[in-house]
Amino acid sequence: MTSTPPLPVELEHFPRSGIRVVMDRAWELGEPITHLEVGEPKFATPGHIVEAFCRAARSGATKYGPNAGIGALREACVRKLADVNDIRVEADQILVTVGAMQGLMCAVIGLTGHDDEILIPNPGWPNYRLLIATAGGRAVPYDLLPERGDQPDPEQIAALITSRTKLIILNSPSNPLGSVLAAEVIDEILEIARARGIWVLSDECYDQIVFDHPMTSPAARPLGAEHTITVHSFSKTYAMTGFRLGYLSAPRRVVALLTKLQESMVSCVSTPTQLAGVAALEGPSSCVVDMVRDYRTHRDLALARARALGLEPRDPAGAFYLWLELPQVVDSESFAHQLLAQHRVAVAPGSAFGEPGGPAIRISLAADREEIAAGLDAVGGMLEARSR
Ligand code: PLP
Repeated sequence: MTSTPPLPVELEHFPRSGIRVVMDRAWELGEPITHLEVGEPKFATPGHIVEAFCRAARSGATKYGPNAGIGALREACVRKLADVNDIRVEADQILVTVGAMQGLMCAVIGLTGHDDEILIPNPGWPNYRLLIATAGGRAVPYDLLPERGDQPDPEQIAALITSRTKLIILNSPSNPLGSVLAAEVIDEILEIARARGIWVLSDECYDQIVFDHPMTSPAARPLGAEHTITVHSFSKTYAMTGFRLGYLSAPRRVVALLTKLQESMVSCVSTPTQLAGVAALEGPSSCVVDMVRDYRTHRDLALARARALGLEPRDPAGAFYLWLELPQVVDSESFAHQLLAQHRVAVAPGSAFGEPGGPAIRISLAADREEIAAGLDAVGGMLEARSR
């Protein structure tokens, strides 16, 4: 007699990302849909990057590469980190990853064990909770409150730390809020991390999408270099989401450890993709300047439109999202599904980002401006109908 093998119970009850649920429903409905749910640049990947990828594939750069990434890309990352982020590292402190996502996963698996606690921003990108659950850890949320300018409270962070805390995840500019971490707050958190022997994992996936002033990287601060693992991505800066390319920088011994894990996770990142990454970092930076200028215009347009609807949006300083708290909305998931069904507008439900998102939605500013305007008008229409 044979019996069907069971599936792991915890994984069967594993939550899905609330954003993905809306995306799936939108795909089921079919076009036309106004897509404001997903954080993906509308721009095509710049031509010189695509060309470098094709050239690499045609010239036979199609073999396995080193676990940590090809030398040319690691060197280019070193130069970029110094120029843009004020982070001083050498090539053996870089690990090339399959997007920032795999860099985060690799760091969490490498630096934490089963049941260890990891502090995460709340509201925060849903994948932090998902990846921590996958790694068998426990996510412990810390608040980003409007009355503190969406900055973490170092006192709260200190109070949340227990003997099981191994990692504090910071995300600046923030997805979903667009807030940028203040240098004084970073310094206080680094001091806590140093005193308690905890790593800081800094997700800087939107590092170059800032509107008013450059962001501060924890690894660039005096205490940061020894305590921080910094994760970067090509996805947003260069409209390369489908290439799946990112990198992390960290103290040498951390990179050596994570490089060993890379063999069991992905072996190495696709070689032509890495050569496209070299072209992105070394090619003209005007494409980034142009895209950021457009995101700023979209932000200003969306803020004006939202205020005209009587809403009080937070003014994002970076990334490409507008976080909107909606009066009369308690369940943002059902609001998002209703908006999709009635107006064919897809937005991310705030609840996907943690409990503070119950009455909120997140709108992507990486869409076309007409789509952003139409989406906000539809939100306004729904709110008006509810208040009647
Ligand atoms: N971190 C944050 C805050 C994000 O919003 C995203 C993607 O949306 C990522 C990391 C992952 O980026 P990548 O495409 O490089 O895996």
